[in-house]
Amino acid sequence: GRPICECNTCYGGPDCSLFLPSCAADADRGDPLFLEPFWKQHAESSAVLVAGWHRMSYSFGDQTTFLSRELESLLRKLHSLVGNAITDGKYIMFGAGSTQLLNAAVHALSPHNSSLPATVAASIPYFALYQMQTEFFNSADYSFQGDTMQWKNTTNTTGDIIEFVTAPNNPDGQLNEAVLHGPNVKTIHDRAYYWPHFTGIPSPADDDLSIFTISKLTGHAGSRFGWALIRNEEVYKRMNTYLQLNTMGVSRDTQLRALKLLKVLVKDGGREIFEFGYKTMSKRWDKLRKTLSMSTRFSLQKIPPENCTFFQKVRDPTPAFMAAYAWVRCEREEDRNCIEILKAAKILGRGGSVFHDNNRYARLSLIRSDDDFALLISRLGRLVSQEEGAK
Ligand code: PMP
Repeated sequence: GRPICECNTCYGGPDCSLFLPSCAADADRGDPLFLEPFWKQHAESSAVLVAGWHRMSYSFGDQTTFLSRELESLLRKLHSLVGNAITDGKYIMFGAGSTQLLNAAVHALSPHNSSLPATVAASIPYFALYQMQTEFFNSADYSFQGDTMQWKNTTNTTGDIIEFVTAPNNPDGQLNEAVLHGPNVKTIHDRAYYWPHFTGIPSPADDDLSIFTISKLTGHAGSRFGWALIRNEEVYKRMNTYLQLNTMGVSRDTQLRALKLLKVLVKDGGREIFEFGYKTMSKRWDKLRKTLSMSTRFSLQKIPPENCTFFQKVRDPTPAFMAAYAWVRCEREEDRNCIEILKAAKILGRGGSVFHDNNRYARLSLIRSDDDFALLISRLGRLVSQEEGAK
C-alpha cells in the first residue's frame, strides 16, 4: 500500500530513512522547539482536556474580568521563583503573544490627540517587528523614527519618545539597557528572552513596563500568550482598552493551557525546565563554538558573563556567552552579504539588514529542534573545513 509516514522535510524514501542532501539547515525562525523533549517527558501532567461545556462565557466568573486570576497569581509566583522580575505594585495584562502587547504598549504610552506624535525608536540591531507593527498601524499618535542614537542628544527638545529596550536582545543576545533618558522618554522593555535558558539573571527587572511571553519560556509559540507588567495605572487602563477593543482579551482556552503548563513549571520551583533549557542551550553553544573555532572567516558575538541568581553561580565561566541566536559576522572583505554566503552552503538564517544592521552579519536561530540544530552544525562544519582547505 501507500507509505503511511509523513517524512520530516530532510528525509525521504519509503520509510523516511533517506537523508536528502539537498535539504537546507533551517536556522531562520525563532521557533523554540528545543523545549519539545521537555514536554514529551511531561506529556501527562501538561495535557489539557476541555469538555464542550467548559468556559463558554466571555468572562471568568465575576463578569467584569477577562483574565484568569489564578493564572495571574501563578505568573507572579513564577517571577518570584526565577527572580527575573519584581511584580509587587504592578498590574498584569494578558495578550495574544507579546506581539499584541507591544502595540498595545505603544498606544498606551503615546499622547492623545496631540499635534506631535510620539517618536518610537529602538537600538540597532533591533527586532524587525517593532518597526513593521508601528508603521502598519499608522496611527496619528506615534511614528517609528529608527535608531535611538539619533535621538540621544535631543530628548529635552522634542515631544514624547518611546524606546524599545530588548533585554536580552534579539538578534545579538546582549542585555541591553535604555539608551534614552529624560522626562519625555518612556520605555518598553521586551523581556521575551529574560529566562535562565538564554541568559544569566543578574537581578530582577523592575521596569515601568515590561513584556514577557510563553513563546520563549515554555516554547508554546503557537498558543499566543504573553503578559505585561505595568507600574502605572493610567497606562494599564489604556492597554486594557486596547485589548478590549482589539480582541476582547485573550482566548480563554489559551489561558487554560498556559495555566496548565505553568503549573508544571512551578511544581519544583522551576528547577527542571530551566536546567533542561540551560543544558540544551549551553551544549549547543559548545558545539557551535567548537565548529567555528578554526574559522577566520566567521565570528560569533561576544556576550559578557552574567551572574545567574537563579542557579547561584556564574555560568560558563571560561568562554562565557549564551543566547537564543548566533549573530555571525562574515569577516572576509568580499563576504559583504553574509546571508548569501550561508545560503549557498545550504544554511537558512536572517541577514543583518532585517535588523537594520550591516549585511556582514547574519542571525542563526539556535532554539529550533535537535534535528535542525544538528544539520546546522554539520553544514557549518563543512563550510569551515572548505575554508581550511583553501588556506
Ligand atoms: N519580542 C521578541 C524580542 C521576539 O524575539 C519575539 C518572537 N520572536 C516576540 C517579541 C514575539 O513573540 P510572541 O508574539 O510569540 O510572544
